[in-house]
Amino acid sequence: MPETSALLTPASIAGAAYIVAALLFILSLAGLSRHETAKAGVGYGIAGMAIALVATIGVVVSDAWGTPQATLGLSLLAAAVVIGGAIGLWRARVVEMTGMPELIALLHSFVGLAAVLVGWNGALEETGMTGALLDIHHAEVFIGVFIGAVTFTGSIVAFLKLSARMKSAPLMLPGKNALNLGALVAFVVLTVWYVITPELWLLVVVTALALALGWHLVASIGGGDMPVVISMLNSYSGWAAAAAGFLLNNDLLIVTGALVGSSGAYLSYIMCKAMNRSFISVIAGGFGIAAPAASSAEEEQGEIHEITATDAAALLRDATSVIITPGYGMAVAQAQHPVADLTAKLRERGVDVRFGIHPVAGRLPGHMNVLLAEAKVPYDVVEEMDEINDDFADTTVVLVIGANDTVNPAAAEDPGSPIAGMPVLRVWEASNVIVFKRSMAAGYAGVANPLFTRDNTQMLFGDAKDRVEDILRAL
Ligand code: NDP
Repeated sequence: MPETSALLTPASIAGAAYIVAALLFILSLAGLSRHETAKAGVGYGIAGMAIALVATIGVVVSDAWGTPQATLGLSLLAAAVVIGGAIGLWRARVVEMTGMPELIALLHSFVGLAAVLVGWNGALEETGMTGALLDIHHAEVFIGVFIGAVTFTGSIVAFLKLSARMKSAPLMLPGKNALNLGALVAFVVLTVWYVITPELWLLVVVTALALALGWHLVASIGGGDMPVVISMLNSYSGWAAAAAGFLLNNDLLIVTGALVGSSGAYLSYIMCKAMNRSFISVIAGGFGIAAPAASSAEEEQGEIHEITATDAAALLRDATSVIITPGYGMAVAQAQHPVADLTAKLRERGVDVRFGIHPVAGRLPGHMNVLLAEAKVPYDVVEEMDEINDDFADTTVVLVIGANDTVNPAAAEDPGSPIAGMPVLRVWEASNVIVFKRSMAAGYAGVANPLFTRDNTQMLFGDAKDRVEDILRAL
């Protein structure tokens, strides 16, 4: 029988800790799927990550202890953990809810970059492997670098588009589908080549190819499809981490990467279904999506009708039913608290007030639900698009608070529109529509909105928070 001390090595203890951490990550994902259990889910995730970090640092320290490079290596590790942790804590504290998607996109790019660096390191330092094992190692290096580099540049483009540093319209290079397919075929050929003759220039070529492909894939996707792109990049970053896990021989990284990869892919699929988009087309960089024909909505320039806060208050006072459809502008204006007060006040007067939530309203999944929950709007008056869409026709007043693309009739009525086919809240069927926004600017997808010039629509210009407070005062 082996001695107990031989079984309890730092590596075996870390292995056991990794299993506990992996279980905590699975519990975390399960918790995050419902808002009642989301807080516990975050707690499990933090606990799992803390255990994983301690175990990994423990193994590294025990391996390096006593070697000549130990002091330098361990100081670098400590510095990286302290500096990285401090920056992470600071960013998480200061980030606005509206800046969350771009922060997430940026973090995905780090995962991609890390996978590229791990891959390159694996190529430059291959020791003690021969035969089939070495061939597998070469394939792992190549695939890891490819996925990592696609994730890296793809996420940077997503970050630039989300933070409005780059135009959100899709890039339409001639023969873009052939370019994407060609890059994939070249990747397969180069992988086989590298496994047969592992020359470093092949790795340079695949790195450059994947960097260009990642950039092109995301640049080719239009503004309205960005929510899907974010969850798709989330999925890619998971696969990149799993590839790095194979190279580093780290089971936890493989399990965690696979969890992130598959849950991200599933979220992308759900969002594609919600937006009536083809999943394959979006993950393949807008594959098969032709440039939209000149949309009649773009040219439509009708007359707009303005309303004052006092008149809006009078309309609301006489209404029997009101539906509020919030969007990104409510988040920008931080109007959720006055909106909650308005809801309470109208309900006190016997008006039936409900909320209609579009699945991609705002800038991240569940954005509006989080804001309304923060302002303590009761859950039972907050309804999903599918639950409420047939009720607009019987509604006296709809308040469109900072929403634009998600209430655009062009999506339902204009086949030439870039957002044609995307399900939207049919607010225009109500007797009166009041739109809160600051100007006539287009929404995130950059598409003109014919709702604003309809006869039953009135515009209430200005910051959404100020205007809702004006209505509250007038009431
Ligand atoms: P939009 O982004 O289409 O429009 C928001 C509107 O809010 C703008 O028209 C803007 O007009 C107005 N606005 C901005 N600030 C204020 C303010 N302070 N007061 C009043 N109005 C304001 O919003 P939607 O929520 O309808 O649609 C979301 C869009 O974002 C969709 O295209 C979706 O695909 C995309 N998206 C969604 C993600 C998600 O996961 N949910 C992620 C990434 C993108 P003005 O400037 O004139 O005030």
